[in-house]
Amino acid sequence: MALKPGSTIGILGAGQLGRMLAMAAAQLGYRVICYSPPGDSVAADVCADFFENGWGDKAALAAFATKCDVVTWEFENVPVSAIEAIPQKLVVPGKRALEVAQNRLSEKGFVEQLGGRCAPYKRVESEDDLTRATETVGTPGILKTARDGYDGKGQWRIGSAHETEGVRFPGRTCIYEGLVDFETEFSVILVRGQDGMIRFWDSGTNKHEGGMLVRSALPAGPLVEQQVEEAREIARKTANALGYVGVLTLEFFATKQGPIFNEMAPRVHNSGHWTIEGAATSQFENHIRAVCGLPLGGTETRFAEIEMRNIVGEDALTAHQILAEEGEPHLHLYGKRKAREGRKMGHVTRVSNKVA
Ligand code: AMP
Repeated sequence: MALKPGSTIGILGAGQLGRMLAMAAAQLGYRVICYSPPGDSVAADVCADFFENGWGDKAALAAFATKCDVVTWEFENVPVSAIEAIPQKLVVPGKRALEVAQNRLSEKGFVEQLGGRCAPYKRVESEDDLTRATETVGTPGILKTARDGYDGKGQWRIGSAHETEGVRFPGRTCIYEGLVDFETEFSVILVRGQDGMIRFWDSGTNKHEGGMLVRSALPAGPLVEQQVEEAREIARKTANALGYVGVLTLEFFATKQGPIFNEMAPRVHNSGHWTIEGAATSQFENHIRAVCGLPLGGTETRFAEIEMRNIVGEDALTAHQILAEEGEPHLHLYGKRKAREGRKMGHVTRVSNKVA
């Protein structure tokens, strides 16, 4: 059943994704409250209420839930125990998606079981495991913590077997992956409604630096276009197998051998920010529509060329200058209090050549 205007959406996490979700929700007449441990909670600036409490505070989570008609998240590392403190009927997309996507080993296993291909990988629990993994998987490769990594954090490149001695094992479950020789990277972003209907946005190419996305652009070019159907099929099966409702993102490497799955995010995604101006309905609005039981909006791309670039670190301090540039750039600043090196502070989207 669709939530009426004036209903309250609870968002777990209070970063920029929550901020953009809250802005889309407001447009549809919903109230949004968010919940996050102390930090730079930029979503709170645009929400009706903010619970600034820890993920372990069961009483605060329960109090938050009593004010919500639905609870979703913008951050996939919300502990599952926090989700369990909220009545499950309120939680959309549902706990299972979070459990699978929080762990690199489980998300890869899940997608492989549905027919997707991953880079060769091994579970690593110790330094000896790491030595063995580099022998079986080969080098070069990347050691990643199985949980809690983002934007290239919790990752160590290993160029050759003797380099494992230089890596201080982080003391928790890791995954060692072979380095994929890719041509480019792309993501499949879909929205699945409460009735199981799925819509995909077009896939752009993604460019990462130091493990962090810096740019997404459309059109993606022939290689991605050839591979996107296979990747969508995997994403469709994943969403259906999870009984997913909302926006789901799967990231792929486009290789000469076809699409290789890297990871999934059970949420709106940085590589989909271009959809705000570039698509018929943005990823943020469609996530809100899906979790509230409203009809989904069209996902068609509206411009022949689209580029989204992240504004990182201190570049945000002078970002208003972008507004004077030619071509009507669309500037989004997240309102973060402190500009730190490597921190996503905003993004700018440039669109051209409207599709008739
Ligand atoms: P992740 O946190 O797994 O999304 O990794 C961040 C970025 O690091 C990816 O988007 C790639 O640019 C790069 N990367 C991660 N894993 C691999 C891999 N196995 N082979 C090649 N590049 C990788």
